[in-house]
Amino acid sequence: MLTVELPYPPSINHYWRRVGTRTLISRTGRRFRRQVMAILAGEGVEPLAGPLAVDIELYPPDRRRRDVDNCLKSVLDALETAGAYHDDCQVVRLAIAKCHTVPGGKTVVRISEAATVAPLTADPKRKKRKCLKCGQWFDSSGPGNRICRPCARINAGIRITEKELRSQRGGKRRNGEPMASDGDVDTR
Ligand SMILES: [Zn+2]
Repeated sequence: MLTVELPYPPSINHYWRRVGTRTLISRTGRRFRRQVMAILAGEGVEPLAGPLAVDIELYPPDRRRRDVDNCLKSVLDALETAGAYHDDCQVVRLAIAKCHTVPGGKTVVRISEAATVAPLTADPKRKKRKCLKCGQWFDSSGPGNRICRPCARINAGIRITEKELRSQRGGKRRNGEPMASDGDVDTR
């Protein structure tokens, strides 16, 4: 994860410059890029790999009308040029917020690794809940499902092996490494 504070970005209309059929980065755009490069170099930033989530907070310098989406591309392009990541197509989740004004304006960017993107339509009832019997977190299907599967099986008098218990609850770990199995033990 990387959090950096950058200057307020130029809008897309000031960042790029059209010359005939070509689109070039403008003087303003190059200046912003250089500032972002200097800040990231100063922090010793190495490019992040893989899918990323980017959160952008804009603190405008004054109360002039501004559309947040006009600043998105310039921030992402400058971050790519400055080596925050290899390519802005790595961004799989993007959020931008317009915050209160600060003298001179600024941007705060947080970039984090995003292994999975939870769809906005994901069922909010399905989540990790604590088992009322054993106290372990488990993948619950809804507020009415408060007993984990191994406990439900024990309640129902179904035999369950230690190996099954481990695979359903996630085995015990020491320093992140799974601990050696001592065979299947009937826990009943
Ligand atoms: Zn349980």
